[in-house]
Amino acid sequence: MPNTPRNSRISGFHRMSPQERRDTVAGFAGLDAAAVERLADTGNLDAGLADRLIENVVGTMNIPLGVATNMKVDGEDVLIPMATEESSVVAAVCNAGRQCYETGGFTTSLSGTLMIAQIQAVGVADPHAARLRILDRRDAIKEVCDGCDPILLGLGGGFRDVEVRVLETAGGTMLITHLIVDTRDAMGANAVNTMAEKLAPRVEEWTGGRVYLRILSNLADRRLARAHAVWHLDAIGGQGGGEAVRDGIVSAYQFAAADPYRAATHNKGIMNGVSAVVLATGNDTRAVEAGAHAYAARNGSYSSLTRYEVTKDGHLSGSIELPMAVGLIGGATKLHPTAQTCLRIVGATSAERLARVIAAVGLAQNFSALKALATTGIQKGHMALHAQNIAMMAGAVGEEIERVARTLVERGTVRIDVAQAVLSELRGA
Ligand code: NAD
Repeated sequence: MPNTPRNSRISGFHRMSPQERRDTVAGFAGLDAAAVERLADTGNLDAGLADRLIENVVGTMNIPLGVATNMKVDGEDVLIPMATEESSVVAAVCNAGRQCYETGGFTTSLSGTLMIAQIQAVGVADPHAARLRILDRRDAIKEVCDGCDPILLGLGGGFRDVEVRVLETAGGTMLITHLIVDTRDAMGANAVNTMAEKLAPRVEEWTGGRVYLRILSNLADRRLARAHAVWHLDAIGGQGGGEAVRDGIVSAYQFAAADPYRAATHNKGIMNGVSAVVLATGNDTRAVEAGAHAYAARNGSYSSLTRYEVTKDGHLSGSIELPMAVGLIGGATKLHPTAQTCLRIVGATSAERLARVIAAVGLAQNFSALKALATTGIQKGHMALHAQNIAMMAGAVGEEIERVARTLVERGTVRIDVAQAVLSELRGA
């Protein structure tokens, strides 16, 4: 009935089985049987598990999983699983890794595995004195927090410190308490949220105010992952020699450091690598992305997460620093079988090691992007894979894909109408 208005108020949708939901959605969206069957194919994620991980499940969304080679992190060779739908991302990491492999690869560190939970109190009559009342109760706060999570405590984690900020806002003065908690091998959102909620009534008692929000901050700046690498001039070569590539990359960095319009794209490229590993290991991509972008704006103007300099010997030195709240436990990390396999591939036996490897990936990704941008341009490298996507969109199948894609690249015009014409020529021949 094409003219019947569609109704999104579907009573009891959440109580249906995935098959019932698929049928309901198919009716709503006019899906044919083949589309519904494809939705029902949950690939390497058990349908029952998918149905427990999130709400209203109708299927799963498969994303290609690639493995980056050539990476050496803190003297150890490592293969890096990356889940992404974007072409050239995995290749970029392999290329950057190869060009600094002989000179030692990436050196990394992590500032700690500390997370921050915030408790927002409003309507406090004497915020500065209340701040001191909270700080004076550090021992009581530690007892409440550590009492929430004996497992974490047993693993050497738990409460580390309390800080209180008096914040001026459009709605008046607020008193913001920060709980600093070592969450060890967990990302820690649930762990610290529980502590903040448990402590909130005490904060109301001590301040005389009213507590509203009790939640972690994704600006995880007590969990900074850092990576550094040196690319020798003879390894980066390229058009005009190593000096030109080096200077082009440094100039590209300086552009990003000075201009938020450029920095947004510069950092997006970094997150191409970072988010792909975060996703492959079942971690929370949004948490890491929010942390990275907030950290990039920490000085009041959005800027680059990486830096490039010239060493005293004239080589290119690159570094990165960004919050990296990832875990080996919690969320989907332990539940998704592919995430578990990815953790085995990358060989990370601690959240710290995983965070450090991911920082190296972010730097590698950025190096390759800047090198391409500063020399041949990004499109040349992208084109071969992009042309294949366009060929498939034009209807090419099997061997036709490669043949159509090659012709598009040769003609220098990668467009769907051209791909359709090439495909017709090919089939007509
Ligand atoms: P979790 O609560 O599932 O697991 C952490 C718990 O596991 C710890 O509290 C501890 O009790 C236990 N544990 C066992 N072995 C451990 C080890 N070796 N190290 C540390 N803890 C160990 O998960 P979580 O990490 O607290 O929370 C992560 C989840 O929270 C993610 O799914 C994330 O998407 C979600 N989340 C995120 C946000 C946000 O980022 N804003 C908000 C809410 C929830």
